[in-house]
Amino acid sequence: TSFGYKRVNEEEKARMVGDVFTSVASNYDSMNDLMSVGLHRLWKDRLVSKLNPFLGMKHLDVAGGTGDVAFRILENIHRIKVRGVEGAFKETLEAETRIYVCDINPNMLNVGKQRASEKGFGEDGSLVWAEGNAESLSFENDSMDGYTIAFGIRNVTHIEKVLSEAYRVLKPGGRFLCLELSHVGIPIFKDLYDYYSFSVIPYMGELVAGDRKSYQYLVESIRRFPTQEKFASMIVDAGFQKVEFENLVGGVVAIHSGLKI
Ligand code: SAM
Repeated sequence: TSFGYKRVNEEEKARMVGDVFTSVASNYDSMNDLMSVGLHRLWKDRLVSKLNPFLGMKHLDVAGGTGDVAFRILENIHRIKVRGVEGAFKETLEAETRIYVCDINPNMLNVGKQRASEKGFGEDGSLVWAEGNAESLSFENDSMDGYTIAFGIRNVTHIEKVLSEAYRVLKPGGRFLCLELSHVGIPIFKDLYDYYSFSVIPYMGELVAGDRKSYQYLVESIRRFPTQEKFASMIVDAGFQKVEFENLVGGVVAIHSGLKI
């Protein structure tokens, strides 16, 4: 396209994604704030509120990187915990709560682990960090109450494999939620958004992280990602029911959800 997009083969793609996140790991969170003008925080809050976390839950956050989604889930559970259950039952549920953060990149996980210890999250063993590939998870069938993937599925090599793995590890009744940069349909807003993504973001990447190429690659990957409707149909094909999506900021991001029944 006019934006210099070139088709990459699968191996190249996997390597490029690895390089991108190794290169951005240390300043990933501040770049997120800058590029989304802080909005990614609200989007993640929305994702977690849709999940309805509960005490004692087993949850898997894939492409969990620096822990942003996992920390929110734990905060949410903590709020419920304070309001609700008491006594020995509460202690049992507390001990059972597990939020697994899975990411393919150890650099991202290390940043997450460090942030967790600074914030005092997971000292009770509720947070588990696991290096792994979303396309072939090491977790057992029917083992999770919830599955989230935020800004992660766009970068994988085979989206279908990620979806079928999500379906496999969820318990019947388990919820799949995906937050991803998506497609803007509103005419003038779309032009402004294109300008912002293809001109401003790579420029900021260069200025702030000294890395124009990585940020340009991230922007191109947004354009290659399936539309909201197409992605919803892929989630259905993986076996999920009650599949729906919600656009935020006119489709800049979308939250897709599905239920394993
Ligand atoms: N979920 C975090 C957030 O919202 O802030 C991090 C999102 S970051 C844009 C994408 C993450 O996906 C990176 O940490 C990267 O290492 C990870 N990733 C890319 N491909 C993956 C794969 N095949 N399996 C697991 N994680 C992957």
